[in-house]
Amino acid sequence: MPDWEVHDWRLIYREWKPERQALREALCTLGNGHFATRGAAEESAADGVHYPGTYVGGGYNRRRTDMAGRVIENEDLVNWPNWLWLTFRVEDGPWFSLDSVDILDFRQELDLHDGVLERRVRFRDRQHRESTLCSRRMVHMRHPNLGAIQWTLTPQDWSGRICVRSGLDGAVTNQGVERYRDLNSDHLRLLERGAAADDTIYLAVETNQSRQRMAQAARTRVFAQGHGAAAERRTGHPEGGIFQDVIVDCRQDRPLVVEKIVAVYTSRDPAISEPALAARTIVQRPGRFEDLLRSHIDAWSQLWHRCDIVLEGDPRAQFVLRLHVFHLLQTVSRNTVDRDVGVPARGLHGEAYRGHIFWDELFIFPFLNASLPELTRELLMYRYRRLDEARYAAAQAGYRGAMFPWQSGSSGREESQQVHLNPRSGRWIPDNSHQQRHVNAAIAYNAWKYYEATGDDQFLAVFGAELIVEIARFWASLATYNNGRDRYEIHQVMGPDEFHTKYPDRDELGLDNNAYTNVMAAWTIRCAERALAALAPDTRNELLEQLRVEDEERERWKKVAGRMFVPFQSEGIISQFEGYENLDEFDWQAYRDRYGDIQRLDRILEAEDDTANRYRAGKQADVLMLFYLFTAEELLELFHDLDYEFAPEMIPRNIDYYLRRTSHGSTLSRVVHAWVLARSDRERSWSLFQQALESDVMDIQGGTTSEGIHLGAMAGTVSVVQRCYAGIEMRDGVLWLNPCLPCVDSGLKRLKTRIHYRGRWLLVDVTRDRLSVSFEPSWEAGARVGFRDQVHELQPGENAEFELEAE
Ligand code: BGC
Repeated sequence: MPDWEVHDWRLIYREWKPERQALREALCTLGNGHFATRGAAEESAADGVHYPGTYVGGGYNRRRTDMAGRVIENEDLVNWPNWLWLTFRVEDGPWFSLDSVDILDFRQELDLHDGVLERRVRFRDRQHRESTLCSRRMVHMRHPNLGAIQWTLTPQDWSGRICVRSGLDGAVTNQGVERYRDLNSDHLRLLERGAAADDTIYLAVETNQSRQRMAQAARTRVFAQGHGAAAERRTGHPEGGIFQDVIVDCRQDRPLVVEKIVAVYTSRDPAISEPALAARTIVQRPGRFEDLLRSHIDAWSQLWHRCDIVLEGDPRAQFVLRLHVFHLLQTVSRNTVDRDVGVPARGLHGEAYRGHIFWDELFIFPFLNASLPELTRELLMYRYRRLDEARYAAAQAGYRGAMFPWQSGSSGREESQQVHLNPRSGRWIPDNSHQQRHVNAAIAYNAWKYYEATGDDQFLAVFGAELIVEIARFWASLATYNNGRDRYEIHQVMGPDEFHTKYPDRDELGLDNNAYTNVMAAWTIRCAERALAALAPDTRNELLEQLRVEDEERERWKKVAGRMFVPFQSEGIISQFEGYENLDEFDWQAYRDRYGDIQRLDRILEAEDDTANRYRAGKQADVLMLFYLFTAEELLELFHDLDYEFAPEMIPRNIDYYLRRTSHGSTLSRVVHAWVLARSDRERSWSLFQQALESDVMDIQGGTTSEGIHLGAMAGTVSVVQRCYAGIEMRDGVLWLNPCLPCVDSGLKRLKTRIHYRGRWLLVDVTRDRLSVSFEPSWEAGARVGFRDQVHELQPGENAEFELEAE
């Protein structure tokens, strides 16, 4: 049963539930694309129930840990000082805490529209005093360095002197993920702290390895009846932090307003002299909380105007979809620009996966391409800046071109952990997931899709083509020729399905001819040729010369792309990798009966001294990723070019085969399955889509969301709506529309989304029997819009309507 309800744009919790707090903190995180802070209570510190965490894009630090004589190094997204710290006490009583009062009424609301977290608590303390505390909080969406809290405290039946404590707590470590707790996790050291003005304190810290600095300055003011209230102030210096006590009289029924405005600067911020100076200066500039709130809400309104998706007919699905857009925009926004950051798979919402960047971009960028393409460009630049590191990695491994890491952090080196803890068995086991070379194809795919969506020739010429060519080059050099087959092969890699890391009877890691990897490698090489062809001749020649790509090398690319091996079983089933069909079938029913939740089958089997490598059982979509990324027509062409028979009937057969063998141990899995079934089995697709939608809000993995949201799955659901249900596809200079609303039983009646396409805004409105596209006035000329087989030239201000066949 959900412990929340929704009202329009608001997520509402009506009861205080300590056991749900960690999850709520992740879901109520507020961020602005620069920094984010979990939705922890202001008066709390990390204590098993509460976990205030503040994270900054790109804010990494490395630490070494000696594990049984072996030194391992991990790079973490640092938990920075807690700027939320705000509490109070009456006279010399205990400090306010939800755990030590009788809660008479509780309500917490996350307002997605305004980007505000609000909490209203009426409580009776041990001295039988009744009070109401209402807090509102924002992380400013327009000003990347500001956060603010407003407290309204109303004594209901008492008057007295209170002490409000407003602090900056730098004595924090990374403790958000239980599995990582044996690893060294103290990242910060104190640099300086003090008073910056009468009502302002500040704190500066530095990470102990990467030497990144952060300064926070907090300005705390109190108001009664609209005026500044007379207060006595004292500053304290607890370990690693600083606070200011504001002592003030409180009168029965007279709300006392406390406003804490905080400036957060790091040494990675542009346009500053020094973080502490910037924080101390800038924190003085805003007026009252309400002033900041107005500009914050304005910024959100503009974002929603661009990015909202209307789903009529299912209020819950509508809300959760908006929640996903909300968290995406809090992780990456205009404030992300020029900060050289990637998009972490778990948002800026927790410490799971250490803030690393994976292939999840593949699920995230389509949404950005359609609404904020300038952000995709920015995030692709994160990869481009690490191209040299990827070249180095390829060369070290004996290949040409660029080999990007499976997990990426600050420098672009491989950041995948070497060992991970299986909480079921308590064993530390080698983590072999770094063999997922397919991340490279995702980067090339993303660069090309960005280009298709925007027509950004300049990006392609200066960065994109180089990125794609270097990756293509890597694939071509990784492939080996098998004479007997007259085919090229790729050995010892892993596909997206992380349950399979090696053959059960082989010592070496990796699998041969993972179908997804091989097809994507061939696709990337073709894409490199397309990218080169799209360049002006001079630019193309320059690039080829600069990269020293000779004709013979391109000859080899052609051969590899044309003769790449794809393993097939009988009846047109694509084998996940060579030999997959020889693995044992898995007894799904027996394990479901025994364990109930078997999403993380790998951990269950390892704890039983068995291994998922032995079975035809997958964590997530692998072969089926092909049907997620390409249309049936594109696949036909791809397989035709590879000289394989491929008939559209094979698609449902493969879907059926693999869907029966998948545990959905990754939240990405249901997104892909909902997608691939959208046209052939609308009921099932809708049910999978709903489960994907609820992954985080219902924490269906039982505890992982509290460690950080699953941004790939969140964005993936948005993508299913835009690209699958609304059927929007940007390809070959045409905006194709091929809508297919979910089954009638879904209750969905209408879907509306604005789309940015090559400098133009279009509104796409789909009902069960009609598709309408309106072209909003813009500075660009007409757009080519394709419906069925027909391409229409649409001019600014024009509308087009198409009839859809009823189901
Ligand atoms: C999935 C990967 C994904 C990663 C980060 C893993 O559980 O198997 O595909 O990239 O999580 O979201």
